[in-house]
Order: sequence, then structure tokens, then C-alpha cells
Amino acid sequence: MQTRRDFLQKLTSSAIAVSLLPHWAQACVLPAKRYEGPVLRVAIMGLGSYGTRVAEAMQHCTRAKLVGVISGTPAKITAWQRKYNIPAKNCYNYENYDEIRNNPDIDAVYVITPNALHHDAVIRVAKAGKHCICEKPMTVDAAQGQEMVDACKKAGVKLLVGYRMHFEPHTLEIIRMRNAGEFGKVLFFQGLSGFIIGDPMQWRLNPVLSGGGSMMDIGIYSVNGARYMIGEDPIEVTAEETKNDPVKFKPGIDETIQFQLGFPGGAVASCLSTYSLNNLDRFFLNGTGGFAELLPATGYGPIEGHTNKGKLDQPTTIHQAVQMDAFAGILLQGEQPPIPCDGEEAVKDLKIIDAIYQSARTGQKIALSL
Ligand code: NAD
Repeated sequence: MQTRRDFLQKLTSSAIAVSLLPHWAQACVLPAKRYEGPVLRVAIMGLGSYGTRVAEAMQHCTRAKLVGVISGTPAKITAWQRKYNIPAKNCYNYENYDEIRNNPDIDAVYVITPNALHHDAVIRVAKAGKHCICEKPMTVDAAQGQEMVDACKKAGVKLLVGYRMHFEPHTLEIIRMRNAGEFGKVLFFQGLSGFIIGDPMQWRLNPVLSGGGSMMDIGIYSVNGARYMIGEDPIEVTAEETKNDPVKFKPGIDETIQFQLGFPGGAVASCLSTYSLNNLDRFFLNGTGGFAELLPATGYGPIEGHTNKGKLDQPTTIHQAVQMDAFAGILLQGEQPPIPCDGEEAVKDLKIIDAIYQSARTGQKIALSL
């Protein structure tokens, strides 16, 4: 992980690129400018590996601040309190966190627990009257996702999903070029997403907690990426599953899935999601007038990209810090993200994943209406 000094040096060397960023991103990467607007006060639920990364990244935020925790492990709460100066009144466990409704010092809860626990947690947070930020996948199927969206609407709170690549400068530059017609008519996307998963006892390999295998965890990047790289929602899906290790990958846990998406403008996406290959993280977009490649495309960074015109010169950012500053603008000041990242958007991804599983199971092409 890069240090703050590395980060700032990279930024200084790409000051021009930074000045081209939208203002919500500049607010994060230009620390010299004092920020005096409203600050989003966030409690993190689930102090595991990604929760820890988000907390570290938030130390670089200007518009969002970590102020509370929800955890089932008292020792972790104590450690986080010390590390991040969190007062005892902002600490909750999984039994009592509904009481957060009486806490005026917390604006939003960021749910970073295993996938199958997101649904109930978001609904409880919404009922407690707090904005919800939820990790991907938002939950394990589209029907549950819609219930989460409906619960947040009913409670009058917003629901955002941790799609950190929606704020990543190389990604946004490719989208800008595509919108400007620089690749001609876009007709093809390839998304490759995978890593070799370790410990067979972890929750990611337990269908009750994960809701699925590589598709839910890493393949979702290609699903979501196909949509923002092509700039349309797919209308049909086909998929095929390969399982080489049925002991490690039990029923309900996909090891490898290949899937194809058809788009209304005539483009196709061809994607691979797997738990059995490392360093698999590449997006490739091709149009009649040019191409764009992101390699790596969705890792924590640095992201690298090039097009038929040459290498992309965009700043390296701390994804979670930029995301959280942007979320503060969305939640507190009604700002619009460059690519939608709300609950409705996540339901679309879940509908595609539902269709991918259905197609892999039945061998049928599945029509989609998103
Ligand atoms: P993790 O196992 O490291 O952490 C999960 C946390 O949830 C732990 O602190 C654990 O104690 C807690 N937890 C609460 N109830 C639990 C239960 N019943 N069983 C197991 N753990 C329980 O997992 P992680 O890697 O931090 O992933 C958490 C979420 O974040 C997942 O939805 C994952 O997809 C997402 N994630 C997103 C990114 C990203 O880049 N956006 C990266 C990694 C993980």
C-alpha cells in the first residue's frame, strides 16, 4: 500500500491531470485547499479486511469522517476506538445497533460484512433513519436488492453501493473518450476478473454467507464494468460454468463462469469470472474507430490504461477515499456521481447475475429488461 507521501508526490507530478478532475475528486486529492463544507459522519459495520482498508483510506478524506463502529468483537472495537479516536457512545454491536437512531452524531452506516448479511443490515439501518452505504454485491439476488431499495425509500434515507471504480480517473477518462466518439461505434467489451481463493473454510466459499462464488465476489466487476464501459444496459445473457474442483467449490459456489451480454446498440460483452486464476483483471473496449484497455482494471491500484492513442496519463488515487468524499457530496449536498452508484444500479447488476446463474443452469439464453 502506498504511503501518503507517495500519494502526494504522484499527485504533484500530475497536477494538470488533477485540475481536470471533477470537483468532488479534487476535494480529495488537493489537500492544501481547506475544506469548510459539511462532513459525512460514518460508522463502519464489519471490521474485517475491507472495513480496515476503508477506515485507513478515510484518513485521507476531507468530506467524510469515520466516527463510529458496529462489530460483534469487543476487542476490535477497543482497538479501533484507540486508533481512530472513536467515542464509546458511537460503538455498537449487532444486537443493539438499532439504537443508532438516537445518535445525532452519525449520518450514515457503511455495511462491510459478508454478502448475505447486507440485506437485513441495510434494512435495519434504514429503519434507524440513517443513510446506508453497502458493499458489493449489494446482496445475493435482485429480489432482496429491491427490498433494500424499497426499505430505504420508505425510510427516507439514501442507499449507495461501494462501486469504487465509478470514481477512478483512468476509467472516467475512457468513458469521456467513448462519449466523445473517439472509439467510433463501440461493439465489443471483454472483462476478465479473477483470483485464486485460499482458505476453503472462509465465508466466501460458504453459500449461506456468500450467496454464490466468484461471480458474486469478483465477476461482478466485469458485470458492472461491461455496463459502464459500453454505456448501455444489456438485454440478453448466456453463461457457462466450469467446475474443476467440486470439493473446494461446493454446490452453490461457482468456481469459473464465462458469460456473454448482448446490448441494444449491437455491442457484445464476453467475460470470465473465476476463483482459479491470479492476476486476472483486464477490461478491453473496442469500437470501429479505436480501443481502450485497463490493466489492471479494478484492483486497488495503480490502475493503468491505454488506448489506440497511447498511454493514459491520469492520477493514481486512493479509491476508497475518493469514493467516500464523493459519497459525502451525494448524501449531504445532492451531488450526482459520474456513474450511478445507488441501490437501483446495484439491483441491475444483481438481475444480470441472477440471469447468468439461470443461463449457466439451464443452457438457455436469458432475456433481460433492466
Ligand atoms: P472479511 O471476512 O475480511 O470481513 C467480514 C467482517 O464481517 C469481519 O469483521 C467479520 O467479523 C464480520 N462478520 C459479521 N458477521 C459475520 C458472520 N456471520 N460471519 C462472518 N463474518 C462476519 O471480509 P471482507 O473481505 O472485508 O468482505 C466484506 C464485504 O466487503 C463483502 O461483501 C465483500 O464483497 C466486500 N469487499 C469489497 C471490496 C471492494 O473493493 N469494494 C473488497 C473486498 C471486499
